[in-house]
Amino acid sequence: MICQYQRSIRREIEIKGIGLHSGLPVTIKLIPAESDEGINFIKNDVVIPARIEYANSFEFSTSLFKDGETVRTVEHLMAALYFTGIDNIYIKIDSEELPILDGSAFIFIEKIKEAGIVSLKEEKIYAVLTEEVVVSEGDKYIKGRPYSGFLATFHASYNNKIIGNRKYTYDPTNKNDFLNVAKARTYCFLEEIEFLREKGLAKGGSLENAVVFEGDTVLNPEGLRFEDEPVKHKVLDLIGDLYLLGLPLIGDIHSFKGGHKLNASFVTKLIDENAFETRYASEILDEISQLRSCVIS
Ligand SMILES: [Zn+2]
Repeated sequence: MICQYQRSIRREIEIKGIGLHSGLPVTIKLIPAESDEGINFIKNDVVIPARIEYANSFEFSTSLFKDGETVRTVEHLMAALYFTGIDNIYIKIDSEELPILDGSAFIFIEKIKEAGIVSLKEEKIYAVLTEEVVVSEGDKYIKGRPYSGFLATFHASYNNKIIGNRKYTYDPTNKNDFLNVAKARTYCFLEEIEFLREKGLAKGGSLENAVVFEGDTVLNPEGLRFEDEPVKHKVLDLIGDLYLLGLPLIGDIHSFKGGHKLNASFVTKLIDENAFETRYASEILDEISQLRSCVIS
């Protein structure tokens, strides 16, 4: 099913946790919004739209910045909002980084469902990709091409047995595929942790909120949620970053080894090159009946 109307949440809800990089405690409040208000963070009374124009740092996460206020690590919540079809919401935050929770988007989705998902009066607006767009950096690239639905692929290439040379495609026409992506946790290598901490990152990281590899071994006692959990998490990050376009995208997006920075370059290029058309749901219903943009009803 395609989402025909814009969505928000029914009532306010609070989520508490700690920031993955900052290590600081944080409370966010999800607040209902009206049609066409969009997704906005509120920090110290500054309203920061969740749009690529405000994204400015991509060091192991995506951050938004406006008028001296920063909100870090927005990508997992953005993916949760994408999967729940939420177009309009305010997210009030009392610290600088979103809670990492279990390292995935799953708890955010559960909380959004708990708050209640409501359809608003205005029709949903989609960004329909109309031409091929490619961004690259070294051997990494992201390619988007027009497609009558939405597909997001991540192709990994690591010198590691578990992550290795795997590929995963999120395809909403496969029922509940969003859970494969939404439940995949963030990950890192033990070898990287010292480097990250020296840079002031990953201060809140633990086996509670990240998969940690030591070479080819998983250090978490519970093991992996999926055999290919890391590559599924990269799809989650891609989907969350793509939603900073401000509209759900219709197209086939393929990332080879891309990260937050390349994701952001891709979204920026879509805008700079006018590579998409904005269309009301009713205008494209027939063309993209297979879309299943409303994976949660
Ligand atoms: Zn992530």
